[in-house]
Amino acid sequence: MLTITRYEEVTQIKMSLFSESHPPLCACAYLVDSLLIDSGPDCTGKELADFLKDKGVKLLVNTHYHHDHIGGNAILQQNYGLEILAHPAAISRISQPPQLYPYQEAIWGHSLPSQAKEIGKLVKTPHFQFEVIHTPGHSDDHICLFERSKGWLFSGDLATVTHPRLARAEENQWETIISLKKIKELRPRVLFTAPEYIITEPSTMLEKTIQYLEETGQRIRALSGKGLSPAEIAKQLFGEDIAAQITEGQFSSENFVNSYLKVD
Ligand SMILES: [Zn+2]
Repeated sequence: MLTITRYEEVTQIKMSLFSESHPPLCACAYLVDSLLIDSGPDCTGKELADFLKDKGVKLLVNTHYHHDHIGGNAILQQNYGLEILAHPAAISRISQPPQLYPYQEAIWGHSLPSQAKEIGKLVKTPHFQFEVIHTPGHSDDHICLFERSKGWLFSGDLATVTHPRLARAEENQWETIISLKKIKELRPRVLFTAPEYIITEPSTMLEKTIQYLEETGQRIRALSGKGLSPAEIAKQLFGEDIAAQITEGQFSSENFVNSYLKVD
């Protein structure tokens, strides 16, 4: 089901299999001018296509390749011939969406292939222009869009919660910290996040998140230096990991610890 919220000239389209849902059981796309940012999960693709029928959308940008951001791509491309743009590292993943965990398929459905092109440095619509900011960490292909004159920052899954403690295996928290600093320096006025939060004057929230992530990283490195394994560190810092059991190990505090200990 879709839940529509308007904020200034931006329309937030919240999508979920369930009514009255909140993160992590929903994903948001944003419609501004002729641009759609992300397309939500597969399970709401048809509803999204119906909603967009008379909205004049010409272009779709995916912030990254995760299934809850590209699930509507195929039907939108098929029905409306939308051009899809994404980071170069996302292109092949969008044309061949990776296998999901069974619990994910049950909630979100499985994204069908679509064809995206490499995004440039700037995306222009009739009334706005969006700077493309590469913001790896959550995934290596993650981008944010910044509309400087309005102070709007579309942050995808980069900034989700202030005190994260779970991660996928692919994440790298040190890169996330650099990306968060990068977007903080832009001094955005409003942050439009994929999980659903629209955050006004987000600098304090971004600063708190950066500080927490840096301090947590230092604690993890110190414990690792004492010889503790990632599993032992996760247990000591975050306790029992229910999320890991529910998500078959996809999201876990051990992954979160590991995401600080990767060596490039
Ligand atoms: Zn994601």
